[in-house]
Amino acid sequence: MQEASSHKKNLLHLTQVELEQFVLGLNEPAFRGRQLYSWIFGKGARSFDEMTDLPARFRTTLEETAEIKGLDYAHVQFSKDRTIKYLFELSTGRKVESVLIPDFDDEGAVKRLTVCVSSQVGCAMGCSFCATGLMGFKQNLTAGEIYDQVWQLNSQAQEHFGRGITNIVYMGMGEPLQNYAHVLQSIKLLTDEKNLGLSSKRITVSTVGLARRIRQLAEERHTFNLAVSLHAPTDEKRSSIMPVNRSERTDLKALIEALKYYTQKTNRKVTLEYCMFAEYNDTQEDASYLAGIANQIASKVNLIMYNPVPELPFKKTSESRLNRFIKELTRKKVRVTVRRSRGDDIAAACGQLLVEQA
Ligand code: SF4
Repeated sequence: MQEASSHKKNLLHLTQVELEQFVLGLNEPAFRGRQLYSWIFGKGARSFDEMTDLPARFRTTLEETAEIKGLDYAHVQFSKDRTIKYLFELSTGRKVESVLIPDFDDEGAVKRLTVCVSSQVGCAMGCSFCATGLMGFKQNLTAGEIYDQVWQLNSQAQEHFGRGITNIVYMGMGEPLQNYAHVLQSIKLLTDEKNLGLSSKRITVSTVGLARRIRQLAEERHTFNLAVSLHAPTDEKRSSIMPVNRSERTDLKALIEALKYYTQKTNRKVTLEYCMFAEYNDTQEDASYLAGIANQIASKVNLIMYNPVPELPFKKTSESRLNRFIKELTRKKVRVTVRRSRGDDIAAACGQLLVEQA
């Protein structure tokens, strides 16, 4: 696990087992590690003073040797659609963004509160339509740092909407399956009933399509949802906007095979994310190719209205092209949903997260 920048051990980066090992190293019994785990992740303690059931002398030792350094707020932006984007600073000084997205029912009551978390600072995948891809890869987040984004946004949800969060999507900065161990550990923390106790059915991990990792998820039989960023229905088009597709280990053929394996092994459907770019991947022929892929896999297609990024040449598709696309998919018996942009006025929408200072 990653070390904090100071000489003290940052306990937020440790698993429960590692906390037990840490206290054993301080000549304390292992159960003190479990107490620390409960304080840090279950109660959100960020100082040892709060840990009133720990002996005073042990708290003094902890003060001298350790710290619990979560993410610091650097900036908050409010969208007119009530989406809120948070900029956090890590202990390394680098920054990540997380987004709190409310959905309302017809009466205007909040029916869902989704947190979009980042798993890396920047991203190595270099998708040409994505602001985060422009940054390049800077660092992985630890499980504790991913967890802390959700913990803090859960408090923010209470403050701004009067209730806790309901859903989590790993669709912020980074490719989650490139930070595999920490992402899975963060889901373990989030679903632990002693902590936030979220249902894994309300957690979605979105990947660019790392076939080997998708197979690994299938083997390990995780129960969270999997979404795959497809974004183009042929190798030629996909490779030109998503460098990951240029390798035969992760091209469309390898990805489709991995997804077939995943859906058969887990008996779960996957979501194929398809971002619509004007006059690039939004023709009837594209829809027909996409249907050919979707119909091979237990899946649904989620069409995303692209949010233009000033530095990039892609444009948003028109409603008429979107409707023609949907019609073709439906005609070919593909289950399809459309995701409208949220928070695009504050650059909080998909593909727009960019931290210039990172
Ligand atoms: S779309 Fe996702 S995988 Fe691609 S560069 Fe952006 S953050 Fe990385």
